[in-house]
Amino acid sequence: MRLAARGAAPVTPGGASSTADRLGRTLGDLRISVTDRCNFRCRYCMPREVFGPKHDFLPNGEILNFEEITRLARAAANLGVRKIRLTGGEPLLRRELEILVESLRGIDGIEITLTTNGALLARKAEALRTAGLDRVTVSLDALDDATFWRMTDSRFRVSRVLEGIGAAIDVGLTPVKVNMVVRRGVNEQAVLPMARYFKERGQILRFIEFMDVGETNRWRRDEVMAAEEIAELIDAEMPLTPAPPTYPGEVANRFRYSDGLGEIGVIASVTQPFCGSCTRARISADGRLYTCLFASRGHDVKALLREGADDDEVGAFLAGLGPALRSLLRSSRGGSSCTQGRDVVPGGLTGWTRGCKGFVMRSPGRLGSPRANLNSTLKPSARSSTSLESQHTTAASGSTRRFCAT
Ligand code: SF4
Repeated sequence: MRLAARGAAPVTPGGASSTADRLGRTLGDLRISVTDRCNFRCRYCMPREVFGPKHDFLPNGEILNFEEITRLARAAANLGVRKIRLTGGEPLLRRELEILVESLRGIDGIEITLTTNGALLARKAEALRTAGLDRVTVSLDALDDATFWRMTDSRFRVSRVLEGIGAAIDVGLTPVKVNMVVRRGVNEQAVLPMARYFKERGQILRFIEFMDVGETNRWRRDEVMAAEEIAELIDAEMPLTPAPPTYPGEVANRFRYSDGLGEIGVIASVTQPFCGSCTRARISADGRLYTCLFASRGHDVKALLREGADDDEVGAFLAGLGPALRSLLRSSRGGSSCTQGRDVVPGGLTGWTRGCKGFVMRSPGRLGSPRANLNSTLKPSARSSTSLESQHTTAASGSTRRFCAT
């Protein structure tokens, strides 16, 4: 079962060009982490031995407040972002999240979605829908508790997540998508039962290759079950037909069941990176903007907000990131392609860490005030690449840069 080829065609989901990078990719999808905490300890994301009881999670004052998040979302929407996804950690652990959703609902032209592990969804679904949430995506890695616990290292039952999915459907947070990370040797036997279960219910299940999302998950390549293999496994029992993407830059390869009843997606983040058409950026709970899931440093937008920048300055800062990255690319490497994470650096330039979206970053430099650096961001050609990157990026520790891996 062959997956559709992923090109590097320019994508302009929001119609805006001001954030376009050298590869023509514009920012269309902003993921905002509202907390670094989670009530699961998925082995591939927050292993308990690292994120145990003594782990230092962010203090409240370090986390973006709802007003700050709304200002950033509004500035991003003005630049063409059309989808805001609330993530975590586990976003439903953030108190009164529905108040944030209501505030975001006041921004014209955006879809508001949320990714959750589902444990608290049944009790929150109605309030979120009433506040204006459009859809949810639920992470679920197996249907049997034993496998689910092996993957999530939690004691929540699968039935609780399924109850959350049901509640989301009942209140109209649809279509609900279910994301399953497939880890060979741990939950690969759950692929077919999951496919059957969600096919019967007409719900969209998406399989995600087990990814290396940080320094803590001890990722091994031989634990990756390739998306093609997953699709072939399902196709052998429930024939599949490839389907086109529903929007430019969609990360999942879609397949419809040939009997017309339902569809699946496979996300080949390891075996077929989709960086060439990526339109996403992420804001961590402590207010750093990352232009790639694999980037190890972010742009400190929280400092900009707390230094008193007005909305125009915030917008200009976000808009300036694209040209700044183009400048870095030109000055540091000659290639015109962008591939995922660590593979981004041709020839393996010593000392450069992982990056994406057309840029690479060096190990920690001296940090400057984001507001003071605003002008230099807007005029990247006036700066050397080294000073530019050190002024606008801050290294993230494992505790501050934490996105839900699914
Ligand atoms: S993958 Fe998501 S649900 Fe699992 S520990 Fe990470 S943040 Fe929590």
